[in-house]
Amino acid sequence: MANRTDIFDLGRLGLSSGEGRHLDLTVSIDPLEFGGQRYQAVPSEVPAKLDVSRTTGSGWFLRLRFDARLSGPCMRCLEDAGKGDAIVVDSREVDQPGSDDDELKSPYLAGDDLDVHAWARDALVLELPTQIVCSDDCKGLCAICGENLNFADPEHAHEAPPDPRWAKLSELKLDR
Ligand SMILES: [Zn+2]
Ligand SMILES: [Zn+2]
Repeated sequence: MANRTDIFDLGRLGLSSGEGRHLDLTVSIDPLEFGGQRYQAVPSEVPAKLDVSRTTGSGWFLRLRFDARLSGPCMRCLEDAGKGDAIVVDSREVDQPGSDDDELKSPYLAGDDLDVHAWARDALVLELPTQIVCSDDCKGLCAICGENLNFADPEHAHEAPPDPRWAKLSELKLDR
């Protein structure tokens, strides 16, 4: 695997306008908080593809792609979610010097230095699903006894608690 890259110096590519380069990098992903839980990418250093194009006027068009799995509690059953589907990240950034448009300024570029580390983490956060789960069809925990329903008997059930309206009815009968 390539050496881990945190800051990538785009200037050293020596690209002129209209030229591009494809790079294979290794980026480290910081732990993140989601739903009050802590998640860590596994592995914490992931292979990433960086596409760099030099645009006219000394601008950059940048694209970062990688897949990441997150280790941490499944939001339904609390088992490790790290074996679930990988999150696919495909993020683009444009930087056009001299532009007044914020959309055309990348927050991850300082001069020619691209902060791949910060970009990778932010891009991953944007792709997080609404729930981090061990599997899409995770059955979660039984609401009554807390047993993990993924491993429980498929017939797992509890007797329904008595309906309070029936209790009232039986009182009426007793009064009679
Ligand atoms: Zn689960
Ligand atoms: Zn139960």
